[in-house]
Amino acid sequence: MDALLNHLFPDTAAVENGELELGGVPASELARRFGTPLVVYDEQTLRAQAQAYRAAAPGALIAYGTKAFPSVAVLRLLAEEGLGADVSTAGELEFALRAGLPGERLVIHGNNKEEELLRRAADADALIVLDSLDELERAKASGGARFLIRVTPGIEADTHEAVKTAHHGSKFGLPPEDAVEAIRRLPECEGLHVHVGSQLMHFGAALMTVDWVAQFAARLRAELDWTPGTIDLGGGLGVRHVIEEPSFTVAEFVGGLVGELQRAFQLQALPSTALVLEPGRSLVSRAGVTLYTVGAVKRASAATTYVTVDGGMSDNPRPAMYNARYTALLANRVDEPAAEAYAIAGKHCESGDVLIERVELPAPRRGDVLAVPVTGAYTLAMSSTYNAVPRPPAVLVSNGEARLIRRRETVDDLLALELYQSL
Ligand SMILES: *Cc1c(COP(=O)(O)O)cnc(C)c1O
Repeated sequence: MDALLNHLFPDTAAVENGELELGGVPASELARRFGTPLVVYDEQTLRAQAQAYRAAAPGALIAYGTKAFPSVAVLRLLAEEGLGADVSTAGELEFALRAGLPGERLVIHGNNKEEELLRRAADADALIVLDSLDELERAKASGGARFLIRVTPGIEADTHEAVKTAHHGSKFGLPPEDAVEAIRRLPECEGLHVHVGSQLMHFGAALMTVDWVAQFAARLRAELDWTPGTIDLGGGLGVRHVIEEPSFTVAEFVGGLVGELQRAFQLQALPSTALVLEPGRSLVSRAGVTLYTVGAVKRASAATTYVTVDGGMSDNPRPAMYNARYTALLANRVDEPAAEAYAIAGKHCESGDVLIERVELPAPRRGDVLAVPVTGAYTLAMSSTYNAVPRPPAVLVSNGEARLIRRRETVDDLLALELYQSL
């Protein structure tokens, strides 16, 4: 229990009178006040993760991978810590601008950037990461002036197929030959971008990528007399969702990358560059805890008892999409000994809607509050309204206070899109 609280829950997680507290607020009080499902973000953990990145890479631009959880409040909080944002659609860019982020802290991605994104990015004087040869002309025509070239090194990251991005054949970035051509056409471009993949639990591929970038930069110097002024190493640091998975600190991962970059550039006698990092998951994931209310408890077979909660794949599609594993505890009875192992099922009309296949808990009863940690990234961000289930709200907790940062969607919100009066 202590290991779970210390390693998977936010920094402020504590047990008071047998109850889970987050940011000094009892989980059951949060559930009562805001309803469930509810995603709770711990302000202290968000700030600590941002500070860890800043400390591990002094002087670098740390651009939050907005897609992990697009939230104006979170973007503002991270901006206060000196971070910027990486955005990949016109929508995400509006979130970042609404948070008050200046263009010099914005990095623009997308393998098929819409006109609107290019225009708004140029207006903000943001750094545009070019992802195809035809985008060069489009981005310049839209008024863009600051560019990186995203190059695909052909390195296989050891992660889920869906979140690998640096292998040959990836839909992202330019193959090396095209990247050389891009720089020939656009020598004023500021530097190079690479992103190995997401949810990396080993450093090997990331370090190989850094070495590859240095060699590629040496080739560009030899062929075009061009050297990068900026290297953007993307994001990707993985987080553990269950205690059995490996884990790395921001300091270990970023320290390793920065050291390797310096070594590899020195080896090629290349001048040192400005650095950009784009962490998403590792900034916000452990800060987030999802609270559910337990409903039906059902023994399905001798081996399986289902504990059904009031959310599921609509608020967290990761188990269904990536076979992601999670754990949980009963927030209102943390101290009680486990009775047996349960499967946590969602409420959606799909057998695959199982959030956790097996977790030991005290015998759950209708009305208990179930807390699932490490759900701050790629959960609400990827949520849907499947089964016409409105999406949950998010609150930020700190020093005994809770502030709503995203309101609960309502059935009326869903119905507002329906046009049927004229039928
Ligand atoms: C998704 C993405 C990120 C963030 O990745 P995390 O694994 O969440 O750190 C950063 N940069 C690019 C280009 C991405 O596609």
